[in-house]
Amino acid sequence: MNNIELIKKLEELGALTKDEFIQLISTYTADDMNFARTRAVRIAKERFGNKIYIRGLIEFTNICRQDCFYCGLRCSNKAAERYRLTKDEILSCCEVGYPLGFRTFVLQGGEDPYFDDDKMCDIVRSIKEHYPDCAVTLSIGEKSKESYQKLFDAGADRFLLRHETANAEHYSKLHPKSQTLASRKQCLFDLKEIGFQTGCGFMVGSPYQTVETIAEDLLFIRELNPEMVGIGPFLPHKDTPFGNEVPGSVELSLFLLALVRIMLKKVLLPATTALGTADQNGREMGILSGANVVMPNLSPTDVRKKYMLYDNKIATGSEAAEGLADLRKRVQSIGYDIAVTRGDFQK
Ligand code: SAM
Repeated sequence: MNNIELIKKLEELGALTKDEFIQLISTYTADDMNFARTRAVRIAKERFGNKIYIRGLIEFTNICRQDCFYCGLRCSNKAAERYRLTKDEILSCCEVGYPLGFRTFVLQGGEDPYFDDDKMCDIVRSIKEHYPDCAVTLSIGEKSKESYQKLFDAGADRFLLRHETANAEHYSKLHPKSQTLASRKQCLFDLKEIGFQTGCGFMVGSPYQTVETIAEDLLFIRELNPEMVGIGPFLPHKDTPFGNEVPGSVELSLFLLALVRIMLKKVLLPATTALGTADQNGREMGILSGANVVMPNLSPTDVRKKYMLYDNKIATGSEAAEGLADLRKRVQSIGYDIAVTRGDFQK
């Protein structure tokens, strides 16, 4: 089968074999790319019209017990200036975001032991109490099933935990021995079982990634059948072991976004910050590859530069309102608009 036929098959069946994915990823041409992106945009428009969902990202701590080789927050990075927001500061971010139209707040952070279950549940409950019409998404790493259950019972709606790579050997080259793919996957299956709208995902162009591992990522995404998928280019951070590695390709990221949209038609698919950092039009190009979500930063401006996952991460000093106005202009320039809604996954 040629690549166009494979893309059509993916659209019809929602699946391809590993070898078919490998063929697509290793031999796609500019025409195949255009074809995939056009299909992906059409599929997204059928579900979401020209509306883009926004999520207010609150990067509430950059303290992390884990040591992922790619991440600027890793505990071995002694050059990082650490911070954590107080509960009141987190609530202030929501207070700024709500009148701007945000109806989802994403609490993202390193795996900071200070924020134990009681503290996290208390924060989630407070947000839900103050903003009952809003969704809360958590992105706080690996926890026991019991902890995830407590957070769900406290009112958290969604959880983002990228699987990073679905190949165990590749996973072991990106993480210290204490972190395993098996444990990451278990967390994802636990989250799904509990009832969270669950997001997995991976970086494009991470060191040691191959077309085979990407094919395995796509097969794992098919198997997990998540409600959200986060895909963005790997970008090096100078104070990590991967500081001198080459950044991931924007073009391949866009192609993979399109394939994921074609495979999981209803999935919530962000045009990620990493994509917007790697190319100044990255988020627009992501939308024009089938993405339907953007996650503007609601963190206080003075901490944004400290949440440096990779070098040059977008961290403008602009206030949330200004940032959103700029984003609205950008999505309008390509024929879309921002929606004031929770933007839940629709079965
Ligand atoms: N600690 C939580 C976790 O592990 O899920 C949430 C925060 S973590 C910083 C969020 C995501 O950032 C990771 O899943 C990873 O894919 C991404 N990330 C980290 N370092 C990156 C880099 N150098 N380039 C691109 N993305 C990166």
